[in-house]
Amino acid sequence: MLTITDLTKSYGNNLALSSFTYSFDHGIYALLGPNGSGKSTLMNIVTQNLRSDKGDITLDGEPIGKLGAKYRQKLGFMPQYPGMYPAFSALDFLRYMSILKGLPRNKETEAQLDELLRAVELHEVRHHRIGSFSGGMKQRLALSQALIGDPEIVILDEPTAGLDPKQRIAIRNYIAGVALNKTVIIATHVVSDVEFIARDVIMLKKGVIADSGSPYEMTKKIEGLVWQTVVKPDEVQDMQKRFRVVNIQNGDEGVLLRILSDTAPTEASKTVVPSLEDYYLHVFGDIL
Ligand code: ADP
Ligand code: MG
Repeated sequence: MLTITDLTKSYGNNLALSSFTYSFDHGIYALLGPNGSGKSTLMNIVTQNLRSDKGDITLDGEPIGKLGAKYRQKLGFMPQYPGMYPAFSALDFLRYMSILKGLPRNKETEAQLDELLRAVELHEVRHHRIGSFSGGMKQRLALSQALIGDPEIVILDEPTAGLDPKQRIAIRNYIAGVALNKTVIIATHVVSDVEFIARDVIMLKKGVIADSGSPYEMTKKIEGLVWQTVVKPDEVQDMQKRFRVVNIQNGDEGVLLRILSDTAPTEASKTVVPSLEDYYLHVFGDIL
């Protein structure tokens, strides 16, 4: 159990994280919030790459500062802007990271790196220079690096940034598969990355937890507040002024609008089953 209590961090006058308190057990936790909400700040503190101004972090009751190297060995981290070595090959980079993590240089380690490279579909290019990789390939290499040594806690900062839809799905399924007996924390502003894999979602708004709970609990809170209605193309602008429009879809019958509203936006509106994206807009609509 990773327990964070009252974690606070300012950059000058800018309060980036304020009294963040939360306990992480096994499973996937999503840290959702728009840019600047403090996700990376939290992750950099949890991974000891940044100092907090205040607060405590414990793993199974022990302060992580005391655990030192023992803690870092249990930790896998994919930073938002990973620094990689353009002259290294993918395999050499993973070997290097495995040494930094204190893994022995033996057959077992090699087999593990081999498996990781296959999992992120980089095995065929394992001897190619990282400098020649696309953004998506670098991203997948950074993810595989975070899983070296089968860490108990995996912290992923925007792991699907720069990936195409097929790669997103592949990475999402891969993360879900390895997460079973780990604590995985994923920071993202892409709701679909975590909607169906996260056990709990933490909505972070300007450094403060705006809400937390399972995706089911969250969507339940806006049941009856999500509407669908068809309007004429020239009515769309007016509807956008009057309501929080979540989605606009052109169709043969007119324009299909998805709207967040306490009451029916039009007479012909029908309520629909809320999604986590609807709830995200419900929480963050005022600052997006
Ligand atoms: P997120 O990862 O959710 O986009 P960040 O943790 O990167 O959020 O940023 C939170 C706030 O802290 C933002 O207002 C950002 O501008 C500020 N911030 C982040 N890193 C720094 C830094 N190194 N120096 C100054 N301000 C920073
Ligand atoms: Mg960030």
